[in-house]
Amino acid sequence: MQQHPLVIIGAGPIGLAAAAHAHARGRSVVVLEQGADAGAAVSEWGHVRLFSPWAELVDPVAADLLRSSDWTAPAERAHPTGSDWIADYLAPLAAALTATAKVDIRFGHRVTGVARQGRDLMVQAGREEEPFVLHVDTASGPTVVVASAVIDASGTWGSPNPLGTDGYAAPGEREHADRITYGMPDLADPAIAARYAGRHVAVAGTGASAQNVLVALGRLAATSPETSVSWLVRRPDAGFGGGDNDQLVERGALGKRAEKVASSGLVERRTTFRTTAVAAREDGRLRLTSADGQVVVGVDEVIVVTGFRPDLAILSEVRLDLDPVLQSPRQLAPLIDPNVHSCGTVYPHGAAELAQPEQGFYLAGMKSYGRAPSFLTLTGFEQVRSIVAEIAGDHEAAARVDLVLPESGVCGGSGAFDDAAAGGGCCAPESELFTISSPR
Ligand SMILES: Cc1cc2nc3c(=O)[nH]c(=O)nc-3n(C[C@H](O)[C@H](O)[C@H](O)COP(=O)(O)OP(=O)(O)OC[C@H]3O[C@@H](n4cnc5c(N)ncnc54)[C@H](O)[C@@H]3O)c2cc1C
Repeated sequence: MQQHPLVIIGAGPIGLAAAAHAHARGRSVVVLEQGADAGAAVSEWGHVRLFSPWAELVDPVAADLLRSSDWTAPAERAHPTGSDWIADYLAPLAAALTATAKVDIRFGHRVTGVARQGRDLMVQAGREEEPFVLHVDTASGPTVVVASAVIDASGTWGSPNPLGTDGYAAPGEREHADRITYGMPDLADPAIAARYAGRHVAVAGTGASAQNVLVALGRLAATSPETSVSWLVRRPDAGFGGGDNDQLVERGALGKRAEKVASSGLVERRTTFRTTAVAAREDGRLRLTSADGQVVVGVDEVIVVTGFRPDLAILSEVRLDLDPVLQSPRQLAPLIDPNVHSCGTVYPHGAAELAQPEQGFYLAGMKSYGRAPSFLTLTGFEQVRSIVAEIAGDHEAAARVDLVLPESGVCGGSGAFDDAAAGGGCCAPESELFTISSPR
């Protein structure tokens, strides 16, 4: 088994950190990345400023490797954009890893399936003696890569939640896809802004990403005053995070800016709006219908920022034990479930919580949180430190907790969306903050 490399799916912040940890332990590593460069998913939201400072966005073992090159560490307290994160950390890290003889990062390699070699999900005989095999699409055709162990750090960016309230595309959502954007369009880019300027834009979602969109539309409206916004909120009210109480200062500030825009004449807030249909009127503009009978008419564009879900299709032949609600590893779910304790405490966690029945296979990073919205990069760095230690047989280091996370207010509580008593969710300013700290 050990003749085969550790294979990591995804050259994002967590996949590359995993590669750095594996390299530090002398393991040979193959990283399979569907994009053309490191941080391909991050590059799609490159214009967004992170709410974490640099000190929380650089893995310590990766930094050790980078310091052996001519890398200059960014100022610890500064807050990069996604593009800065790539230019000043992820791209140099990918280059430094590639420069070592042990790490092979293959860009343009999209993993389409993971299995035990010669065994589908059903077959037990000799299963654990077999290596993994990854099916991969490349520009020159499909290929396979054999692995001793697999870390799936492929994120969730590629599978956004739909507008439809029951988790499927609402009737008409696919048909009108040309007017619906999932994620955060860069409204500082004139070519993109032209699509929204002076238009009636519906924004669905309440998390930090939705707040970013509201703030960007507020800026756009300053120069294009005909712009109007219908903000579709599933809950009876919308919270704006911890504000001044948020230990992540940038995130608190974002919430305050979004609240200001949302309270201005630009935005009409539609609460308890759970979209069940998208239809075009005779004038070509869209009509959105909610489960409770509300309608929003005259919509030109829709921006959907309702979170993400893991793509589990590539894992249909590996044995997983996932929480039925969050689709995260079952043991991790109670630590991160916004339905259970959106104002609770999440502990740093590692290989023990992330282990799967398929020995040697791990979910890490954003994908390991399934549908939970509270993933932070620092948590991911701790995950891969522990996972790689476990794979290397260093069980003591795998079980140890090396990380003390900053105490952070994190929005959650999506499960309480129709509970009037839940008010604005856990992140209403007067609520207790969601704490991510306290080692076990
Ligand atoms: C707008 C935004 C702002 C955020 N701000 C912060 C912040 O301030 N602080 C913080 O701690 N966290 C933040 N996060 C959360 C999180 O830290 C980031 O999303 C981070 O990028 C997650 O890293 P990752 O490596 O797990 O996943 P990703 O960054 O999504 O990387 C996954 C990689 O896998 C590749 N991939 C996907 N599928 C395949 C496949 N089938 N085959 C091969 N490759 C594949 C993708 O192309 C991508 O490069 C933010 C998230 C978003 C969306």
